[in-house]
Amino acid sequence: MSFYKQIAVIVLFFIIQLLFFIPHYNNALMIALKGFSTGGLILLMISYAFPELIAIKKNKDNPNDNPNILKDIKDYSLIDNRYLTLLENIKDGILSVNKDYACGIYIADRTSKIFDLKSSSEDIFNSNVELNNPLLRSVFDEKKSKVFNFKDINLENWNQLINIKKWRGSESAFCFPIKNNKNIIGSLFVFIEHFSNINSSDKLIIQNFVDILNQGILDIDVSEIQVLTNKNSNLIQSIFNEFDPESNSDNFFKSVKNACRSIFKYDKLTISFKSNESEDLKVVLTDGFDEDIDEGFSFNPNNSILGLSFVDNKSVHYDDWKNNFPEMHRFDDSLDDSAYFSTVMSSPLRSAGKSIGSITIERLESKLFSSNDVDLLNLLAENVSKILGWIDIHRQLNRSASRDGLTGLLNHKTFLNRFAKEIDRSSRFGDNLGLIFFDIDKFKSVNDTYGHLYGDYVLEEVSKIISENVRSIDIVGRYGGEEFSVLLINTDINECKPLAEKIVDKIAKKTFLRDGIAVNLTISAGMSGYPLHSDNLEGLIEKADKAMYSTKGKGGNGVGIAE
Ligand code: GH3
Ligand code: MG
Ligand code: MG
Repeated sequence: MSFYKQIAVIVLFFIIQLLFFIPHYNNALMIALKGFSTGGLILLMISYAFPELIAIKKNKDNPNDNPNILKDIKDYSLIDNRYLTLLENIKDGILSVNKDYACGIYIADRTSKIFDLKSSSEDIFNSNVELNNPLLRSVFDEKKSKVFNFKDINLENWNQLINIKKWRGSESAFCFPIKNNKNIIGSLFVFIEHFSNINSSDKLIIQNFVDILNQGILDIDVSEIQVLTNKNSNLIQSIFNEFDPESNSDNFFKSVKNACRSIFKYDKLTISFKSNESEDLKVVLTDGFDEDIDEGFSFNPNNSILGLSFVDNKSVHYDDWKNNFPEMHRFDDSLDDSAYFSTVMSSPLRSAGKSIGSITIERLESKLFSSNDVDLLNLLAENVSKILGWIDIHRQLNRSASRDGLTGLLNHKTFLNRFAKEIDRSSRFGDNLGLIFFDIDKFKSVNDTYGHLYGDYVLEEVSKIISENVRSIDIVGRYGGEEFSVLLINTDINECKPLAEKIVDKIAKKTFLRDGIAVNLTISAGMSGYPLHSDNLEGLIEKADKAMYSTKGKGGNGVGIAE
C-alpha cells in the first residue's frame, strides 16, 4: 500500500471513531460525513485487498500513448551490418551456455512505438512487441537485469512476446538491458521452458555476453563518430563492412592492406603482432618494398623503430628517425638495415587497452606524413584492433559451443555431428571408419573417495592420454560424464584394436598423482566398424556400447569388438 493510502486509512479511521463516539453531533451533515468516511474506508480496503482491479483499470488507457514511456526510451536503429554480426555472435554465445535456452534481442523503436526483434534463436519470438510489455520494458524502468517466472506475469503479456500454443506454467525468463553508453536501447530476452533447467551460474555468464554486446555497440558508435568527423575515411569503414567473423584473419588482413594502399602513399607497410611463444613481434603482413623481411619474420621490439609504438603503446611519427635515435635499428640488430627508410609512422594495435602489435608505414624519403594521414592511421589501428577483438570473441564463442569445458574435447552434440558427416563422406569414397567407446571403470568411487575435484583432474588426464595417442585427423569427444568416444578416420577395425589396447594399457599403467594423492585405475573399451558392423550412426554406437559393456562385465580393463 502506498504511503498516501496508509495516511488516508488512519485519518478516515479516526474521523469515524470521533463521529461514532460523539453521538450528539447526529445531525444531517454529520450523518453524511459518517457515510462518506465509512465509504472511503471501505473503498480503500477493497483496493488493498484486490489491487489488480485498480491496475487493470489503469492499463485501459493506451499505454503506448503515455508520453512518459516514450520520453525515457531513446530511439536506436541497428541497421548496420556490423551490429547484426555482433548480435548474432552474442545470441550464439548465449545458446552455447545452455541448449534449452531461446534468445531474442529486441531494440526499442520510438517511431513505430514497438520493440523490434533484431535477432532470435527460434521463431517463438514475436517480431513486434508493444513498448509497454512489462517483460521487455522492466529493464528500462529498473535499469538492471530481471528474472521472471510464468506465474508472476499476465498470460497476455507472455503471449505478446512468445508465440507458443500451450503454456506449462514452469516457464521462466531472464531479461537484460542492452545499452549504448548510459542509455538503455533494448532488451535481451532469454527464455526457458522449465526453470529447473537453469544452472545457477548461467545468469552471470549471460551477463558477460551482454557486457560484450554493450561494449561492441559502443565501439561501433565511437568508430562511426570518428569516421564521420574525418573525411576520406570511409575506406576504413569499408574494412568493417567486409569483416566476416567466419572467414579467417588472412582475408581480413588483405582488406586492411587494400585500405592502406588507397589511403596512404608509402614504400612499405608492416603489420606485426606479439607472438605467443616469446616477447618478440612477428610480422603478419607486409606490402611494398620486398627485399628486406617477409611475413613470418620475428624481431625483438626493444630498440627497434618498428617496435616502438608497440613498446610505448602510443603512436610514433618521425622523419629522418636515424638522426634522432642513432642507437636504434629498424627491426633488430640481427638484420642489416640495408634498406634505409627515413620516415616512419606507426600506431599500436591494442586489446583491452594493452598493446598487442603495431601497424607501420614507412617512406624511403625524409618527408613527414600529413596530419590527416596521422589521424587516419590511428583510426585504422583502432578499428583493426576492434575487429581482431571480435574475431577472437567469435573463436572463443564457437569453441565454447562445440567443446567440453573441462577437457576441451568435442562435446556430445558436436561429436555426433562430425560422426554423421564422416559416415556420409566415407560412404561416398568407400572408406572404413572405426568407432571406439571408452568408459572409466568404477569412476564413481574415485569421486566418492577423493572428491569431485580430484575426479575432474582424472578426467582431464584421461582425455589427454586418449588425444595424444590418436592421429590429428581422428575425432575425439567427451561422450558423457566419464565416457569418451573416438572416431578413427579411414581405418579398418583390425587397425583399431591395437590402438584401443594401447590406450587401455597406458591408462592402467599410469599413476594419477595430485595433492599427494596417488590413484591407479582402469578403463574399458568397445569398438565397432563402418561398414562392417553397421552402415549408420545409431547402429555403430549401439554395437560399440554393447562391446564396451561386455568387456566391463568381464572385469573391465580391456577391449571388446562388436559382433
Ligand atoms: P562402471 O565401472 O560401471 O563404469 O562404474 P562407474 O562408477 O564408472 O560408472 P557410473 O556411471 O556409476 O558413475 C559415473 C560417475 O561419473 C558418476 C558421476 O558423478 C561421475 N561424473 C560424471 N561427470 C563428471 C565430472 O564432470 N566430474 C566428475 N568429477 N565426476 C563426474
Ligand atoms: Mg559410464
Ligand atoms: Mg564408468
